[in-house]
Amino acid sequence: MDFPARFDVIVVGGGHAGTEAALASARMGAKTLLVTHNIETLGQMSCNPAIGGIGKSHLVKEIDALGGAMGRATDLGGIQFRVLNSRKGPAVRATRAQADRILYKAAVREILENQSNLWLFQQAVDDLIMNGDAVKGVVTQMGLRFEAEQVVLTAGTFLGGCIHIGMQNYGGGRAGDPASISLAKRLRELPLRVERLKTGTPPRIDARSVDFSVMQEQPGDFPTPNMSFIGKPEDHPRQISCFITHTNERTHDIIHGGLDRSPMYTGVIEGVGPRYCPSIEDKIQRFADKNSHQVFIEPEGLTTHELYPNGISTSLPFDIQLDLVRSIRGMENAHIVRPGYAIEYDFFDPRDLKPSLETKVIDGLYFAGQINGTTGYEEAGAQGLLAGLNAALRSRGEEPWCPRRDEAYIGVMVDDLITNGTSEPYRMFTSRAEYRLILREDNADLRLTEKGRQLGMVDDERWAVFCEKREGIALEVERLKTSYVHPKTSEAEQINHKLENPVSREYSLMELLKRPELNYQDIAGLKGQPVDNRQVAEQVEIQSKYQGYIDRQTEEIEKLRRNEETRLPEAMDYDDISGLSNEIRQKLKDVRPATLGQAARIQGVTPAAISLLLIHLKKRS
Ligand code: FAD
Repeated sequence: MDFPARFDVIVVGGGHAGTEAALASARMGAKTLLVTHNIETLGQMSCNPAIGGIGKSHLVKEIDALGGAMGRATDLGGIQFRVLNSRKGPAVRATRAQADRILYKAAVREILENQSNLWLFQQAVDDLIMNGDAVKGVVTQMGLRFEAEQVVLTAGTFLGGCIHIGMQNYGGGRAGDPASISLAKRLRELPLRVERLKTGTPPRIDARSVDFSVMQEQPGDFPTPNMSFIGKPEDHPRQISCFITHTNERTHDIIHGGLDRSPMYTGVIEGVGPRYCPSIEDKIQRFADKNSHQVFIEPEGLTTHELYPNGISTSLPFDIQLDLVRSIRGMENAHIVRPGYAIEYDFFDPRDLKPSLETKVIDGLYFAGQINGTTGYEEAGAQGLLAGLNAALRSRGEEPWCPRRDEAYIGVMVDDLITNGTSEPYRMFTSRAEYRLILREDNADLRLTEKGRQLGMVDDERWAVFCEKREGIALEVERLKTSYVHPKTSEAEQINHKLENPVSREYSLMELLKRPELNYQDIAGLKGQPVDNRQVAEQVEIQSKYQGYIDRQTEEIEKLRRNEETRLPEAMDYDDISGLSNEIRQKLKDVRPATLGQAARIQGVTPAAISLLLIHLKKRS
């Protein structure tokens, strides 16, 4: 493979955003160069080795539906899979996988190395080549110049990165990796708004020093779900359990005792941390009435003894870290393998970006991932894919593409970021989407794969699997609509005992499936053969059971638009409205908006929250 003199697209950074960006661009046929500090850290998980979870799995499935790597790598590297909220409605159901960080990284690297049109190169990028207001390429640490009219920057937590443990701090992009200082300096010269954020990670523990017998075991689900729409059960490696333990009053006393040497509480760290992934010192301050917090003990892989204690991220001094860990049940003799730390880094105000993630002021320069103020692999991967595909579109002179809020969580995230910006690390939640009955994780392929195919990102294998599924759904819906069960027949007898109102007239199988007491397995074999494709069966069931709700939601959204001018009573008691997050409740109390329209324009008040206000108003009237 010749090394081209010029590229169509250069991607800087081989984290979660960078790998998806490079793959998307290359899949679309653009000559793409991925330049990153270290080839060994391609796809590295800086923090928790887990992918998915509420809101986040929706993004992973959307990346997957558009041909991305994250879902496949999760299937190949996942060692414990669970479907969260499985008893709730499908809109909030979310797949979460604990990953073996080595297997995950290996899977990402294999996908990258086998992607045509993609070149990898190990070097730090120190500078951008500019011509007026347009980017023309990058310059590496060694002074090598690579040219391209499109450059996607995905530098993660590395720009001006500073690591804190207690009162000590030093430059770094994450533990063990150098910070990106020259590039950060160069970017600060551009007319873009830049701020600092902070995130943190817990100390890692040697499993051989932990007593699991006093902890609660949490096995994965069986049958093991897949993250990718083209995944198969046999893709997964050996599955193992996670465990749960708790902090206690002694843990909290130890933490209190160390706060005078905490970089966060002595003002050394200025960047704002993630509200939804707070450090343990933050948690005991913010939730002072709680004398215990859950700690999930998660294995880092099948071939390592390292454990990730999820819930005790900290930048306290090492002696306090050791004491606090050893105060937790089952960890009395714990050996810390790596200390926890916090990291501060530069991020750029995403309000300076277009929906394509191209910067408004520098033509051809795109930003994706943590650099835009988000947190999480999934948020980064989704932005990377979008920036990469738009960079490729630009390289062939085509219009950019960004999904709308009613098409994808990717659209919700980008709209949130570029409209409201963010003052704290942004993470995805299902509550951020007003169309969440439509934007489910199970139908991400039905929403996006066809578009991905048009854009050139979906290969023949994925397209064939998708077409078979789509056709399978259509055939099965037709079969269920045209197969009937009659009263007083053996078929009716098979289900009557489950039904509040037994079969009293002729019903189609589809009508029966709408009944809450029956599921697909109950009715599909009453006439003819059920389908053996799990995804088809799931889709037919969800579509039949929730169609009414989905239609109602669509109507509700239409009405919401008309209700822009609806007045909110001055004395409105926001504590009385269930479902609002504390953050939003506080913002509403601070501003006390006069109308729903005004409420919607308050930064951070989501369209989903506006729906809740509307419902509350209706109940009052
Ligand atoms: P990264 O994964 O950081 O990748 C950036 C890549 O760019 C790296 O490969 C780097 O080597 C490369 N790079 C940077 N600068 C250059 C350059 N100049 N030249 C060449 N290559 C360069 N997320 C959560 O959701 N929850 C958490 O609790 C959480 N805690 C975290 C704790 C820590 C300590 C850290 C470091 C991260 C944490 N994260 C957490 C964030 C998560 O790791 C990121 O959201 C995610 O990795 C972002 O992906 P990215 O691709 O934007 O950046």
